[in-house]
Amino acid sequence: MKIIKEYVLEQKNLIKKTVEKYHINKKLVIIQSVSDGATNAYVKGKCKDCDEVGIAHEVIRLDESAHDIDYLVNLIKKLNIDETVGGIIVQLPLFDGWDVERVQNAIDPRLDIDGFHKLTKFLPATPRGMIDYLKDNDFSFPGKNAVVIGRSEIVGRPMAKILLDLNMNVTITHSKTTNSDLRHYLENADLVVVAIGKANFLDKTYKFKENAVILDVGISRIDGHLVGDCENDVQCYFKSPVPGGVGLLTRLGLLKNFIDAQ
Ligand code: NAP
Repeated sequence: MKIIKEYVLEQKNLIKKTVEKYHINKKLVIIQSVSDGATNAYVKGKCKDCDEVGIAHEVIRLDESAHDIDYLVNLIKKLNIDETVGGIIVQLPLFDGWDVERVQNAIDPRLDIDGFHKLTKFLPATPRGMIDYLKDNDFSFPGKNAVVIGRSEIVGRPMAKILLDLNMNVTITHSKTTNSDLRHYLENADLVVVAIGKANFLDKTYKFKENAVILDVGISRIDGHLVGDCENDVQCYFKSPVPGGVGLLTRLGLLKNFIDAQ
């Protein structure tokens, strides 16, 4: 498997060439509500990615004391018909009590590059990033066993569906799966996607196939360090690192969705 950092760099160069070739000049608008360290870092990362490939961008920051959810929905409606806007991201989390689904469904599905609108034509960025990476590495899907741990709407479920569409035998596990069953499924898995947000949940006591590829989506912070859902040095064929793994693939998935939206 390619080193993810190198793969992402290579793909960004291709995106930059596409932006130049097709004179893509519409901007990505990112609307930010909560302004904590992690959210600021995510927004900053997305702006940096845009700068690197030549996509214009604008960050609109909301103020909880001055704005309410109606203001946000009206803002999105204005952006939907603004000819200079090529994509809209509403950075999560929203302020406490704001209805996420109402906000996400206000975005024109053609501009919803996060892939969260109920009528969206885009894959959510994390599954898209992971699938494109596996395909680029000629991962063989048909008839192979996949275990997806976690069943969220933005990672686990869409990822499981895509893998099923690619003819894998897919097992989805979650918080009610017994540990002995999970260990049994994992021992037979060719691909493991773990997205639960529990630091180092999969440790060296879990056994994987020699050829197993593990994509670690989870992000937790321990003593200021980023940690995945799986220890970085478990025995397997390939395990995506944290940091420097699926987070980078997700950002790439967003850029690709933006290009597809033009
Ligand atoms: P989520 O909405 O936080 O849901 C967690 C899922 O994990 C639920 O389906 C839950 O099962 C399951 N779960 C919890 N404890 C479990 C356990 N002990 N064993 C098995 N399953 C368990 O999920 P998410 O939004 O997909 O986020 C998951 C993690 O990925 C978080 O750390 C998040 O920060 C990270 N993330 C990273 C990226 C990236 O780009 N790297 C992108 C998105 C998310 P139940 O359904 O039974 O409750």
